[in-house]
Amino acid sequence: MKSFTHFLPLLASLAAASPIDLTKAGLHNLFTRQDIQTPINASLPNITIFATGGTIASQGSTNTQTTGYSIGLGVQQLITAVPELLNISNIAGYQISNVGSGDINSTISLTLAHMINAELSKSSVSGVVVTHGTDTLEETAFFLSSTVNSTKPVVIVGAMRPATALSADGPLNLYQAILLAGSPAARNRGVMITLNDRIGSAFYTTKNNANTLDTFSSTEAGQLGSFVNQVPYFFYAPAEPVGRTVFDLANATSLAKVDILFAHQDMAPDLIDSAVQGGAKGLVFAGVGAGGISSKANVAAQAAFNATGVPMVASHRSADGLVPPTSDDDFIISSGYYNPQKARVLLQLGLTIGWGNEEIKEAFAKSLPVP
Ligand code: ASP
Repeated sequence: MKSFTHFLPLLASLAAASPIDLTKAGLHNLFTRQDIQTPINASLPNITIFATGGTIASQGSTNTQTTGYSIGLGVQQLITAVPELLNISNIAGYQISNVGSGDINSTISLTLAHMINAELSKSSVSGVVVTHGTDTLEETAFFLSSTVNSTKPVVIVGAMRPATALSADGPLNLYQAILLAGSPAARNRGVMITLNDRIGSAFYTTKNNANTLDTFSSTEAGQLGSFVNQVPYFFYAPAEPVGRTVFDLANATSLAKVDILFAHQDMAPDLIDSAVQGGAKGLVFAGVGAGGISSKANVAAQAAFNATGVPMVASHRSADGLVPPTSDDDFIISSGYYNPQKARVLLQLGLTIGWGNEEIKEAFAKSLPVP
């Protein structure tokens, strides 16, 4: 059992530095949530934080513990731990969830999309920040990139070390995220991921290392910019990813179930039947090479497609690369540049708004750069 006394210095410092007026919102009881509004300074941008959990909201039992820690810091504690945030912004905060990012589900994702679209439509709000576990951060970032329609910055941020660690990365990552969300230079750049002084596109960035601070990158597309001495420097003018599709989910209350099947030597066919029987409305293969699955898995996939029409998308289990377009009569759809986890989100979105195979194919093909 973990000793609480380890947290006392941290909690004491959080309590001591508390210029923040906390009020319980209680808007609805889906999640434990609080509203936070820091004092308003009219010369600073208004930024809204949506906190979901993850390592950035975690504490270990010693300051050298960097795995096996527990999640639980609330949004007000994240803000209070970095009083410098009040020098650069007025912050409103919502606790959407407080979970490891493996537990982010359709309800949380849809809540984020609805609330962020509503928040950004207010002329008083300059930008929003989502705090999130790094493990599936790229999925939520891509989801928001596909569902939030605004020229204002949306920044998604996490940490690789818990708040109690020596050299915890969360506080500076959060500071930079707030700075970015309030920066005029960040407008028209869609949803961005920032950690470890880097600014990446939500469309292309992926988590590449399970443990290290420099885990977020996009080998092919590169970074959008980086922070030096707390100034965000961008390499290019704002640009739109060629494949981006924006979905209107205003009426959606759930997302279609899509499963990812990881291909390997001698991949068994029964996984496909089991996924379809388990209620999957779409399948994504993390295929070998450029989207391959074993011959016997292919036979099972064709049979399942013929019987049910469940769309099947071939992505790649390699970290990077693309799956070239398949021929028109092929029942498997190429994922183009989407990795399996992003392909799953895109397929979920398409199925949720009622797309058929042809529209799904077109949306994936859009990600391929025009030759
Ligand atoms: N280890 C994770 C993180 O880095 C935990 C999570 O994804 O929630 O945030």
